[in-house]
Amino acid sequence: MRGWRAPRALLVVAALWACSEPTDPGPEPPAVYETARFRIVDSTRSPQPLIDSIADRLESELDRVLALLPEFPEPDTVWTLMLVDGKGMGFVDLTDASLWQWLDDLDLDYLPHQLTHLLTGYARRPFLEEGLAVWATEQLLPGNSTVHPYRGQPPHAWVSLFQDANSQIPIGVMWSAFNLGYAYDGSSADASAWQLFIETGSFTRWVMETYGRAAWFYAYDLDDLPAALGVSEAELEVAWLAATRAAFPDPLTCEEALGTRGPLGTREVFWCARARGE
Ligand SMILES: [Zn+2]
Repeated sequence: MRGWRAPRALLVVAALWACSEPTDPGPEPPAVYETARFRIVDSTRSPQPLIDSIADRLESELDRVLALLPEFPEPDTVWTLMLVDGKGMGFVDLTDASLWQWLDDLDLDYLPHQLTHLLTGYARRPFLEEGLAVWATEQLLPGNSTVHPYRGQPPHAWVSLFQDANSQIPIGVMWSAFNLGYAYDGSSADASAWQLFIETGSFTRWVMETYGRAAWFYAYDLDDLPAALGVSEAELEVAWLAATRAAFPDPLTCEEALGTRGPLGTREVFWCARARGE
């Protein structure tokens, strides 16, 4: 077991700050903390208990992701969590192995998703990488129906719902999707990206449970679903959609599901229009 090793050190740098001119202090530098396997760069100067809770969650979620995905080598570099003021979508920057989190949008239930991306290095297409990250989240946070992107009901239930309006994104379209077009304030492209996340997570789970985990990872390595699974794309699509429908024959409506966390915002209105096939 790898664990949390206290104490964390505050690296930057109260002493330098104290030497600044008192009349013109300039921006306060971020506080930098080290955990066993992460660096937290805190531009928000948040209180220590919050930093401690983030550090503990980072370490524990990485343990869980590593245990879930032994197919990938353990990281040999320190990953960075950038904590910044404001509100926005957390994201992963693979160029410097960092996670970005906004203080007013600090959804740590998204960590399994983000840590999965850092672990794999996002070496394959979004269909495979996002599917694995959503599947990992569902495995590690079972019963959690609030985590992005499948708020309100599980991915299979969403895919069942999409079939009501025949609005599901076909496997072939998802397979070719690269520019996912996220927009925090909502857009049609953002709605398609949201739906793609859900469908890839559902599809990944179905393949793992139907063909076995080794088959899914063979497809991941081969970058070719029909060749890896020995089934045509059309047959895969029919069987997957039927399985989600059978598992959730009576899904919540989009508004019911997203409304479980309060009124819908602009972004969610786009999502529900997409779900209705508009
Ligand atoms: Zn992702």
